[in-house]
Amino acid sequence: ALPKPEELRNLAELGMGNGGSVMKVEHVPSGIVMAKKIVLIDAKPSVRKQILRELHIMHTCDSQYIVSSYGAFLADPNICICMEFMDKGSFDTIYKRIGAIDIDVVGKVADSVLKGLLYLYDVHRIVHRDIKPSNILLNSSGEVKLCDFGVSGELINSLANTFVGTSIYMSPERIQGAEYSIRSDVWSLGITIVELAHGRFPFSECSDDFLNSAITPGVGFDGRPPSTLISSPQQHRSISIPEEKELPPLPPLEIPRRDSLAPGIGNGNGNGNVNSHGNAATTRRSRGVSLHGGAMTMSILELMHLIVREPAPTLVNLDSDSKKFPKEAKDFVDCCLEKDVEKRKTPRELVGYPWFGMMNVAKVDMKVWAESV
Ligand code: ATP
Ligand code: MG
Repeated sequence: ALPKPEELRNLAELGMGNGGSVMKVEHVPSGIVMAKKIVLIDAKPSVRKQILRELHIMHTCDSQYIVSSYGAFLADPNICICMEFMDKGSFDTIYKRIGAIDIDVVGKVADSVLKGLLYLYDVHRIVHRDIKPSNILLNSSGEVKLCDFGVSGELINSLANTFVGTSIYMSPERIQGAEYSIRSDVWSLGITIVELAHGRFPFSECSDDFLNSAITPGVGFDGRPPSTLISSPQQHRSISIPEEKELPPLPPLEIPRRDSLAPGIGNGNGNGNVNSHGNAATTRRSRGVSLHGGAMTMSILELMHLIVREPAPTLVNLDSDSKKFPKEAKDFVDCCLEKDVEKRKTPRELVGYPWFGMMNVAKVDMKVWAESV
């Protein structure tokens, strides 16, 4: 039976995202522990009812690769979604706690994500739209499952005018305004794999030269923001990637201020993106992407230009003593991060990829691994 709001007892807060928060709750009549996601939605009652109807698809999902749902209800002004509680949390929290994840384990994660994507697409004709480490969950049985997929068109519409939905995992074609497709999910999976295997978000590896060339005016930049980014002050905020433990500090990235930069990128008028604190030591709390080298902040808009213009990230050994990435893993990532959407493979084409058949990946026991994290 659908859980009623008054039957739920709060146990702990699990996390907070852009669109709402997630609580660990107990459904008192049954004793079942659930995760309750609260999404604040500014929409008419008729639209909210429609969202609820659409969220019902979630209830009919039945796959070992998809977080199951107990149902959703309206709790003015929010929509609450009760889902399966995944006791080991999401992969962003996991890697930020333990550091880079072993590549063979990442292979298992990628395999599960692909199978989850296939299930959503083949059975329900939906694309996920928000593949990233925080939407890939683990439980102590070693199961890896997807959550927060785009079941509700109305919910997507209601959130479209907010920052939610604009993500740093977005594919080049999405940034340029193309329709979402299953191949856009494959791109986001590629970024996610690199992030988990490196233990940090790939675009935080940008070198000085790379960033300098990326913000050089007149090279491929037409002065207009990408069409998916409708003007909202929040979209110009910088991206903060929380400090990870056990990583040596990155060298400071100094980007010289250029007065001739195109409008909207860099800071043509001399104050647009300049970090007002001006103190590198106190403001450079994020690693790499939010760049406060004393000169300017790299905004999400700028990152999106990098994604569109620069070569895609790859799996590279960051330090000499780390375990080498097998060729099969690199090939897989390169397939996911094919910038041309027409050439990029689909989950169906990727699911039997040689990486997953490798002895090292095949023999990973996810239950044992999950117990260790
Ligand atoms: P964003 O809002 O940008 O999508 P997010 O995915 O981190 O970011 P939420 O979806 O609100 O934000 O989730 C917040 C956190 O709650 C997640 O990072 C995850 O760690 C945790 N969480 C979400 N769903 C569950 C679940 N079913 N079981 C256990 N933990 C969960
Ligand atoms: Mg989420």
